[in-house]
Amino acid sequence: MSRILIVEDEPHIADGLRYNLEAEGHEASVAPDGERALDIVLREKRPFDVVVLDVMLPGKDGFTVARELREAGEYVPILMLTARSRPEDVLNGFEAGADDYLPKPFELTILIARLNGLLRRQRWNEQPDVYAFAGRTLDFRTMEVRSAGKSYRLTQMECDLLRYLVKKAGQPVSRRAILEEVWGLHEETDTRAIDNFIVRLRRYLEDRPAAPKFLQTVRGVGYKFVPDA
Ligand code: CA
Repeated sequence: MSRILIVEDEPHIADGLRYNLEAEGHEASVAPDGERALDIVLREKRPFDVVVLDVMLPGKDGFTVARELREAGEYVPILMLTARSRPEDVLNGFEAGADDYLPKPFELTILIARLNGLLRRQRWNEQPDVYAFAGRTLDFRTMEVRSAGKSYRLTQMECDLLRYLVKKAGQPVSRRAILEEVWGLHEETDTRAIDNFIVRLRRYLEDRPAAPKFLQTVRGVGYKFVPDA
């Protein structure tokens, strides 16, 4: 169970979200404007696990709320709800400190998948930032791989995937699990996209990417990270 704060002034959206998040087993609270959201997050003794933050709010808007939370040293994950037609909302949101966004109107199942993605990422962030094996160093904080005297810069998606594989070291991981648990994507997505990511990760990690030792293919399933191969 996670503690979720919904910051939304439209009661039917806020109540619908709260109802559905509670049905998913979470504890959900609602703040109807930015001032109250800041007050609740910054004064509450029990921390929230994630904040769903609408951009369009009376008084302080969602960008201001996100910025003020970060300025106050509060790094709770923020999922921002933006207007579909405004890509600048997305950029402003990330600049203000949002971790992910969803355009309105949204599908509830997608919102829940995104929230679960943020919650998982937060749990991974509790793992060490640096992981070393077989002479390679994975630095999840700087998103770098150092291997055989070379350094490679990871994208956020590569970094998330690698972190997941490390967490599941020694266990086969299905392509579907990667899509859903790492990236919060649904099953209609083409799972072959993952294979391209694995090809890139092998280039960073393997001595011979065509004959991988550490990122093994598990036929009919997916992949397995074997650090002590
Ligand atoms: Ca609103």
